[in-house]
Amino acid sequence: MRRHKIAAIPADGIGPEVIAAGLQALEELSRRDGGFELSVTMFDWSSERYKRTGSLMPDNGLEQLLEFDAIFFGAVGAPDVPDHLTLWGLRLPICQGFDQYANVRPTKILPGVSSPLAGVGPGDLDWVIVRENSEGEYSGHGGRAHKGLPEEVGTEVAIFTRVGVTRIMRYAFSLAQARPRKLLTVVTKSNAQRHGMVMWDEIAAEVAKEFPDVAWDKMLVDAMTVRMVKNPKSLDTIVATNLHADILSDLAGALAGSLGVAPTGNIDPERRYPSMFEPIHGSAFDITGKGIANPVATFWTAAQMLEHLGEKSAADRLMRAVEKVCGDGILTPDVGGIASTQEVTDAICEAIRGSNI
Ligand code: NAD
Ligand code: MN
Repeated sequence: MRRHKIAAIPADGIGPEVIAAGLQALEELSRRDGGFELSVTMFDWSSERYKRTGSLMPDNGLEQLLEFDAIFFGAVGAPDVPDHLTLWGLRLPICQGFDQYANVRPTKILPGVSSPLAGVGPGDLDWVIVRENSEGEYSGHGGRAHKGLPEEVGTEVAIFTRVGVTRIMRYAFSLAQARPRKLLTVVTKSNAQRHGMVMWDEIAAEVAKEFPDVAWDKMLVDAMTVRMVKNPKSLDTIVATNLHADILSDLAGALAGSLGVAPTGNIDPERRYPSMFEPIHGSAFDITGKGIANPVATFWTAAQMLEHLGEKSAADRLMRAVEKVCGDGILTPDVGGIASTQEVTDAICEAIRGSNI
């Protein structure tokens, strides 16, 4: 029996609701498959903990996580705690501390879910966005001088290193190579940002030589938003900086129907540390506690996690269950349905148990 140790951090808002749904589906899969077992440890690291103790996670938090094979994360953010404190207090320290430099965000239109784009259905939009997850605009460098005075200056420094850009470029090219269309679009803003972004373009051209069978092109990030909306079929794998890909992947989630279906894996491709899997969305204060959070993003990221753990057949089964349940119209309100989180979850579990899935 293969055994995987999972650290679950549901955190804030709808995080606990969708993580509970994800864990229910994972248990069902391990029962169905019989070949693996998950041992799940729950962590209460959250904004609530911050309000109680002054920190979202303990000082030795990363050390505590080291022994796990993967981290299953909900969402962090509370209405009464500034967002930069919650983000830098929990999610970013894990991503950066464990050098999870590849943030992988698959997007496609699921059966039964409609895109806001007219005439675009399942099969017309099937992308993977690779977000550089360790440097760039979120490196934390910058500062404020003359705080509060009329002459105040604030800087936000984007740091790009040759090592950092080369490794994400290799990751993106090899991911593109493994997909049927072998197509990669490299996104920058190298017309206006003429240092680090020009380096991105140059490194892309260098790494491309290692992948002669991958067709690739370059886009400026502003023009990319237009292409995503006007010509979604022309795209397959996409690589962009931390900030650019953050924005593009929210757009991608919306074009695929809802943020509630968009998953993400924060991956250390070298497997030195645990990788972290989470829905893209945040704590969604507006629907917290109503029982209507869409659990599909969390199921999809659970499938990413299973694949990372080597459980490919369980991952595929989970995605087939998601496609069946969505196709049957068992959907939460954000994607036009009337089902609750629990109803969708129960339907997923039933599909997993079914012999035809
Ligand atoms: P959000 O993703 O929480 O919500 C945006 C909109 O999408 C809301 O209308 C929400 O109801 C809807 N939505 C999101 N997930 C959904 C789901 N699973 N099912 C149905 N509808 C869903 O983004 P926001 O409102 O900008 O941020 C709220 C809080 O979450 C903030 O504190 C923010 O900092 C935090 N946040 C955290 C993460 C993270 O933990 N990775 C990501 C984004 C935002
Ligand atoms: Mn984001």
